[in-house]
Amino acid sequence: MLAWLGSAKPQYDRFILLDRDGVINVNRPDYVKSLAELHFYEDALEAFRFLEKNRVGVMIVSNQSGINRGLIARDDFLQMHEEVIARVEQCGGRIQGAFYCPHRPDEKCRCRKPSPDMLFAACRFAGTGPGRTFFVGDSPSDMEAAANAGCPGVRLLRVASKETLSLPISEPLFPTLLQAVLSIYGK
Ligand SMILES: [Mg+2]
Ligand SMILES: [Zn+2]
Repeated sequence: MLAWLGSAKPQYDRFILLDRDGVINVNRPDYVKSLAELHFYEDALEAFRFLEKNRVGVMIVSNQSGINRGLIARDDFLQMHEEVIARVEQCGGRIQGAFYCPHRPDEKCRCRKPSPDMLFAACRFAGTGPGRTFFVGDSPSDMEAAANAGCPGVRLLRVASKETLSLPISEPLFPTLLQAVLSIYGK
């Protein structure tokens, strides 16, 4: 597990965990491999601003098997990580921590989602319990990880993945991250 921890101890009462690709930035079937392929969703940037304003700490929990598949260079990965942190801050948001699994499925590591390990690590760092920490993701393995960790799972279904609507889905479902966070914290 690759972990990046923001400065000092998080000073929030509530936390939310976010998947990265397909939630914060546009995903690609051949992996998001470099800065040139990192395109942010505008609603996601707005969601970060909303979360910071409402004192909800944010942490990223992301599988990045492209690293150990040899498709994403370490330097490119780090550049993308730094760009996410910087861009979110430019937009008035803040990220407290980021947890990445670089492993391929065949490496049988302990951290790759749907394992709950990265979610647990994030909650431990924040000093909060999984039961009160939402996890927003866009794939079935995100929802499995949420269930395995005991986090309430919230599923995004962005326009490009409409075909999966025919699948039986039991989690709350939202088309954008902004709509998801407004539904959770907007009352
Ligand atoms: Mg995703
Ligand atoms: Zn791993």
